[in-house]
Amino acid sequence: MRVKVSTAFVSLATTANRRSAILRASSTFSRDETAFKPFFRLYYNDVYEVNLPPRHRFPMKKYAQVRHKLQGLINELSEEQQNLIDCEFCVSPLATFDELATTHSMEYINRFLTGDQTKEEQRNVGFPWSQQGVDRATSSVGGTLAAARDVCQLWQDQQHLTDRPAPWAAHVAGGTHHAFYDRGEGFSVFSDMAVAANVILREYPSTIRKVLMVDLDVHQGNGNAVLFEKDPNVFTFSLHCVGNYFSKKEDSDLDIELPIECNDQTYLMTLNHWLNQIYNENKKSDEKFDLIFFQSGVDVLEVDRLGRMSLSQEAVSRRNNLMYEFSHKMKVPLVICMGGGYPRADDWAPIIEAHANVYFQAHQYLSKLQSSQ
Ligand SMILES: [Zn+2]
Repeated sequence: MRVKVSTAFVSLATTANRRSAILRASSTFSRDETAFKPFFRLYYNDVYEVNLPPRHRFPMKKYAQVRHKLQGLINELSEEQQNLIDCEFCVSPLATFDELATTHSMEYINRFLTGDQTKEEQRNVGFPWSQQGVDRATSSVGGTLAAARDVCQLWQDQQHLTDRPAPWAAHVAGGTHHAFYDRGEGFSVFSDMAVAANVILREYPSTIRKVLMVDLDVHQGNGNAVLFEKDPNVFTFSLHCVGNYFSKKEDSDLDIELPIECNDQTYLMTLNHWLNQIYNENKKSDEKFDLIFFQSGVDVLEVDRLGRMSLSQEAVSRRNNLMYEFSHKMKVPLVICMGGGYPRADDWAPIIEAHANVYFQAHQYLSKLQSSQ
């Protein structure tokens, strides 16, 4: 495991940003500490759908389908089960220029926002430029950032209440881990998790000092690897397939490559081993992680069109639960992002099911914690 040298990190949010973040959070949280329920808010950005050319490879319609499937699963629960946790769905806000500029080049952001992109840039990302695309790309970042702000604000407010599980939130989108400082590729214009991490480190300097990114998409989180290469405050862990690099392999803080056609057992044993390793090292460390991002791509499935691993639905469910056990044990806030999942021959059902399960399992995990109290 490559571990970076730590340096002091001092950064202050602008007063306006910080005030608006606090107002946004405190207007929605219950202050009644006796009526505690585990927190789980889900953001979604399928309202910003983009009209792509026919037979475009990007599965645009999966976002709305995943949300509807997930809301259906939650609605099927009894009222008593639904009331165990504080769960709600919110539309993802659009990230601002200043938020994007914590991570990406101002010139790149400007050119994207105004449609001043070369054909090659559009080809690398995989989308023709459109105003709808601008809203979609900025909401992909905004939802992840809003989820992160919610959990960090709540966590900061509740620091004196040591018996409570850490808050979780999710974005039914995002996980666009192939975006770099001044370029994008692989359907990633901006890196939502990177922007969220950078903004949070500035806005919550006393609560959130070190961030862990666990990227379980079948592709390497190459953008985030480079964006945080020299940043000791963000640790990038990518578990991916050796035969699936979009472009040049980059160096995450921890890269674990799995073979083409990797099976359930190898995958789960490897993930379990490395999560335990991170947990044990974190326990000994003076600089512990304060926040976790989980990129939950389901392109590890055997049925995925672009992935080259051979995982079953059952294994992806077990993967998710390993991640939730780990996050609960770490006792820090968690933000779940969507990542890749590509239907083969228009067979959407297994991809939608796997993505929806990622979020539903988190909901169920928190419900179980509450019911066992
Ligand atoms: Zn992927």
